[in-house]
Amino acid sequence: MPNLEIITIGTELLLGEIIDTNSTYIARTLRDHGIDIYRITTIGDNTSRISVAIREALERADIVITTGGLGPTVDDPTRQAVADATGRELVFQPELWDEIDNRFKDYGRKPTENNRRQAYIPTGAIPVKNPVGTAPSFIVEEGEACVISLPGVPREMEFLLHESIIPFLSRKFKLNTQIIKATVLHAASIGESAIDELIADLEKMSNPTVGLLAHPGQVDIRVTSKAESELEALQLNRPVIQEIKLRLGDHIYGQDEETLEFVISKILNRYQLRLGLVEVGLNGKLTERLKTAQSGNICSNFSEKNIKNFYEFEEKIKEIQQNNYCDIWFGVSIDQEVNNLVHFYFMNSNQKAYKTRKYGGPIEYVPLWAQNMGLDFLRSEINKTNESNEMGEK
Ligand code: ATP
Ligand code: MG
Repeated sequence: MPNLEIITIGTELLLGEIIDTNSTYIARTLRDHGIDIYRITTIGDNTSRISVAIREALERADIVITTGGLGPTVDDPTRQAVADATGRELVFQPELWDEIDNRFKDYGRKPTENNRRQAYIPTGAIPVKNPVGTAPSFIVEEGEACVISLPGVPREMEFLLHESIIPFLSRKFKLNTQIIKATVLHAASIGESAIDELIADLEKMSNPTVGLLAHPGQVDIRVTSKAESELEALQLNRPVIQEIKLRLGDHIYGQDEETLEFVISKILNRYQLRLGLVEVGLNGKLTERLKTAQSGNICSNFSEKNIKNFYEFEEKIKEIQQNNYCDIWFGVSIDQEVNNLVHFYFMNSNQKAYKTRKYGGPIEYVPLWAQNMGLDFLRSEINKTNESNEMGEK
């Protein structure tokens, strides 16, 4: 499989004034065509630095794609940088100039002398027409490898990528139509390193690959296969997913689009349970998440006051209970004194549970961590109740 490096060009990218979405787009698109991506570099509008970056990338990669810096002004450096990196001159291409001229006519304008710059491309380069903008693109073939320069404007870049570049790459590298399919398992109440220990052997596999991504209070495990068809890729994923589920057991709460709140809502709705919710210091986020997941049966309460132990939780519930009937009571309280400490409460007619946990990560993530920990606590307590009920029924 050919491998790719992307170089995004623009001082405004380096200064953080715009976010580089081009490389993400190119990486995702070409990955799905079986091209391996090894490196993404961002360089300011400086011809010699860009040219060095291109030369170095060409030593490693089969395909180097640049975006940006193809405009008509003197400080649009890409044409010159590619010419320098590949030891070529810039030559005027009359047909590109005609094309630019025609584009301007379509807009009812005349091109300026500056626009002539855009009709210069490195000797021997293949011009790529740009019917959606004025900056023409070009491809320079260097032995087995190639440098492809695309415009910076995302809409133009995306159009040319699909219209001209993918067909060119498919011909040049005889790309097969391998597709990539990922399945994501979601785990909670277990840390990234604990998961890592349990599935270290699976993380060393190459098809499918298994990777971890930690979020506050929750970890994603991504299983990704390459295959000739989607079905085949899913079949490769399946046994590995089953194995991970077996090893992590109840820590896995869902897959792909399933969220904690979605899983909980499903149980509440199935058993027609009404949930009483007490939130402290979470800005109503727990309620918001459960409501978005269509839990119809929620009665939410917000408390200004810290709820520090089970006694205080029960006192609060007595207050609310006068006007509301709930099957389950659930509370999450961020401690107002120790702000990485969180209290979690659960109560129903035959079960009480309480735990308190400290978050070790950045303080600004405490609320999100508390929501995820809380929801997973609620999920496992509800499951315990249902398990014992079902056993009783048998
Ligand atoms: P133009 O002819 O429009 O000048 P260009 O090829 O010279 O095209 P740039 O001037 O580098 O492209 O970028 C034009 C605009 O495209 C930028 O102002 C920015 O809004 C957007 N852009 C450039 N690079 C990126 C990138 N990597 N990710 C997202 N947007 C980008
Ligand atoms: Mg420009």
